[in-house]
Amino acid sequence: MAQQRRMGGQPMFVLSEDSQRTQGRDAQSSNIMAGKAVAESVRTTLGPRGMDKMLVGSSGDVVITNDGATILNEMDIEHPAAQMIVEVAESQEDEVGDGTTTASVLAGNLLGEAEDLIEQDVHATTIVEGYHEAARIALEAIDEQVSEVAVDDDILGQVAESSMTGKGTGGLTAEELGETVVETIRHVETDDGVARENVSVHTQVGASSNATELVPGIVIDEEPAHDGMPTDVEDASIALLDVELELQTGEVDAEYAIDSIDQLNAAIDAEEGELEGYAETIVDSGVDVVFTTDGVDDRVAAKLANEGVLVFENIGSSDAKNVASATGVSRVGSLDDLEEADFGHAEHVRTESYNDDELAFIEGGSAAESVTVFVRGGTKHVVDELERTIGDALDVVATALESGEVVPGAGATEIAIADKVRSEAAGIEGRKQLAITAFADAVDIIPRTLAANTGRDPIDSLVDLRAAHESEGRAGLITDSEDVTIGDPLEHGVVDPADVKREAVESATEAATMIARIDDVISAE
Ligand code: ADP
Ligand code: MG
Repeated sequence: MAQQRRMGGQPMFVLSEDSQRTQGRDAQSSNIMAGKAVAESVRTTLGPRGMDKMLVGSSGDVVITNDGATILNEMDIEHPAAQMIVEVAESQEDEVGDGTTTASVLAGNLLGEAEDLIEQDVHATTIVEGYHEAARIALEAIDEQVSEVAVDDDILGQVAESSMTGKGTGGLTAEELGETVVETIRHVETDDGVARENVSVHTQVGASSNATELVPGIVIDEEPAHDGMPTDVEDASIALLDVELELQTGEVDAEYAIDSIDQLNAAIDAEEGELEGYAETIVDSGVDVVFTTDGVDDRVAAKLANEGVLVFENIGSSDAKNVASATGVSRVGSLDDLEEADFGHAEHVRTESYNDDELAFIEGGSAAESVTVFVRGGTKHVVDELERTIGDALDVVATALESGEVVPGAGATEIAIADKVRSEAAGIEGRKQLAITAFADAVDIIPRTLAANTGRDPIDSLVDLRAAHESEGRAGLITDSEDVTIGDPLEHGVVDPADVKREAVESATEAATMIARIDDVISAE
């Protein structure tokens, strides 16, 4: 516990015996080491030939993934500087949805370069200034790389595919998935941009074949409340209830002292009457499909089934919200208030079973253009990774469509950044020049890693890429299923959204400069 002493009226804080303090170079180098180590841990997953990681949790749960943000999230990272690299990946994921490995690897290398500079007695402040200057030049270089081509469906498909290469696609081709992703994003495109929040991904494990399907609506894990209910309703009016359609327990005992058959019959009649009343009110309202967040008595369900009303009971609150936003239905808290004005509408409500699971599809809702990418795969690991892969692809396609800006991938943009930063560094005086050049060296890690992960020599590849960049203006390390060649990524359909690169430069620079500036770590144990 920290103690507080008073001297001359001023509070003075004294560190407790338990707290630890690391200062100066020691603090810097331990932070830098921790940050570098974390970035290093995802390096081998970068790019089309990146390897997957298997993460085993303390309770034995297993995640197999190639996704940088997921790996860093699942790792139990305690060191505060290392945690900042995890935050780089998280903010990259939140802002643009892809480029998490790129951003964290870049941050780690900026730290590595900073360490060398500190050893050469370059002050942290100079490094920070130099890095910020270099990041500004890097953003200019990205602007110069933005391709003039119109971002049409072909380019968007390439953006989706580039984000998926090297990821688990569960037996589907990246091309098939890319097409589905582009179609999905086009569905939710509005004049004000892309309503990405109206896209859901629903996974289904255990289907015999891998498939994805674009559902023009929402999918929820629910089955009809009764076997006799319709499983397919077209042009459906929809009600959403927060009403218990069951008898209040104990009601019978409370109201009738039963001592004769007549009274028993009367009691049963009263019960039946109450349940009948629920069913009648619903039928009379003219609604076709009812979602309720509460339970439905079997007898009510049976009566409604007889009348051809489809009911889903005990639905979760997020499903209720999705139903409401897709169909425009208003929630009703009492059957007395049930009226047509509250109804929502959908072109098609149907249920379908997959192995042991029953799913409800609500399609063509009248309120919002909600769409669902329905993904099926053999095992949980496959569909989980597929869900992440598709999620990234949806994000990048939305990002690219909104800004209309794409840049060449496969390391070409990074080669261009390093080149521009290096040549501008030449005109800058003093030690800051060293820091700016170091930034360029750090950016080289991306093409170097892409090369290393394909089994190529990183130094040779870098030399070849620079030469090709010099003569052709655009040069990346194009990787397909057979070959690795140097070429123009745009010609080979390897493209990334410009915003993914911008965000990576910004978030990596921010984290690296923040960590490098720290020279005193005081931690309370
Ligand atoms: P991140 O988490 O940074 O997105 P990825 O493992 O998804 O990491 O790799 C992204 C990098 O792989 C980008 O630089 C992208 O341009 C590159 N890339 C994607 N497809 C190809 C390809 N076919 N050939 C070479 N590089 C590719
Ligand atoms: Mg990616």
